[in-house]
Amino acid sequence: MNIHEYQAKALLREYGAPVSEGVPVTKAADAKDAASQLDGPLWVVKAQIHAGGRGKGKFKEADAGEKGGVRLTKSVQEAAEEAKKMLGRTLITHQTGPAGKQVNRIYIEDGSDIARELYLALLVDRQTSRIGFVCSTEGGMDIEEVAANTPDKIVSFSVDPATGYQPFHGRRIAFSLGLEGAQVKQCVQLMGNLYKAFTEKDMEMLEINPLIVTDTGTLKVLDAKVSFDGNAMYRHKDIAELRDETEEDPKELAASKYDLNYIALDGEIGCMVNGAGLAMATMDIIKLYGAEPANFLDVGGGATKEKVTEAFKIITSDPQVKGILVNIFGGIMRCDVIAEGVVAAVKEVGLKVPLVVRLEGTNVKEGKAIINESGLDVVAADDLKDGAQKIVKAVKG
Ligand code: GDP
Ligand code: MG
Repeated sequence: MNIHEYQAKALLREYGAPVSEGVPVTKAADAKDAASQLDGPLWVVKAQIHAGGRGKGKFKEADAGEKGGVRLTKSVQEAAEEAKKMLGRTLITHQTGPAGKQVNRIYIEDGSDIARELYLALLVDRQTSRIGFVCSTEGGMDIEEVAANTPDKIVSFSVDPATGYQPFHGRRIAFSLGLEGAQVKQCVQLMGNLYKAFTEKDMEMLEINPLIVTDTGTLKVLDAKVSFDGNAMYRHKDIAELRDETEEDPKELAASKYDLNYIALDGEIGCMVNGAGLAMATMDIIKLYGAEPANFLDVGGGATKEKVTEAFKIITSDPQVKGILVNIFGGIMRCDVIAEGVVAAVKEVGLKVPLVVRLEGTNVKEGKAIINESGLDVVAADDLKDGAQKIVKAVKG
């Protein structure tokens, strides 16, 4: 689960991290009041969307020369005007994809004077199964670009969970970043606080780009991108409340309400499968036969008829879907429940694309009977290979 920059900063402030004062705004009419709560002489107006690269981003239908989603202004009036210009419009960055994201919130922040821009991230390092730090002197830029062109400018290491964070970790970061004197001490403390926030709040990623050295020589968190482990949200009600559903794919949102593991993809074949491993295998075999999956969908073990119906509706609501493959190996999941769900969903939303169903396992006879007696135009498949070949053929002709 992702949150906005202003929410991340409020959370990090609770952990003692240095962040600027700021006020979030959702209505243009409130922008002036918000800006006048800050001292100036610099006001930064920042679009709040769940994507990075806002500064270099472009608004849809922007005039040549119009600035992106981060604007520096020199008065309350100007800040309010810039906020008004951004609210409600669509911002396209290298992370949003070509469709962009609508800006529904703005953060007006007390501007900082920057001496240096640094990069810092904490993440779950899957290779070592530990929490890792990544830092670089090349902040404010695309870290992917730094990694590709000047990898020696990135320093990373992981923290042994048996010891947890230790001051030497912080000193290692401070020296890699070229910090001096009191900055080293501030860095050691800040890294400890960030590590604490990361572990206590079950974060998956915490990226600060840039972490700055101000003109007066102190460290400050100027940008913050945080994502949390969605499976841990049940024990962080305060964090779960920060969820902004308008930022999420509507199909993924509907799926999460029904506890379905669904991820939208770019292909043309919708898949309904039980079990994450079988879902992966199904996607692989679709690709093997020359097509692309439109989604990953694991309906889970004990899915009900309602859940299956909802899953089917989500798949058919995707205009990119040109065919559907239902691939069920009934172990805990019963084939007749799947069949009932599919039939109910098709009766409700209709079926405009070819449907191939492969059922195997518990109650397979009952399941097949339900499909056969439903009068639906369904192609039956004997096994995974057969199912994949049939749906690819139906879609590609
Ligand atoms: P991003 O483009 O989505 O990563 O948004 P950031 O919050 O990182 O802002 C982009 C860039 O705007 C930063 O790298 C800074 O160069 C600049 N910027 C942001 N806030 C300030 C500020 O308070 N003062 C100054 N001088 N520049 C800022
Ligand atoms: Mg940034």
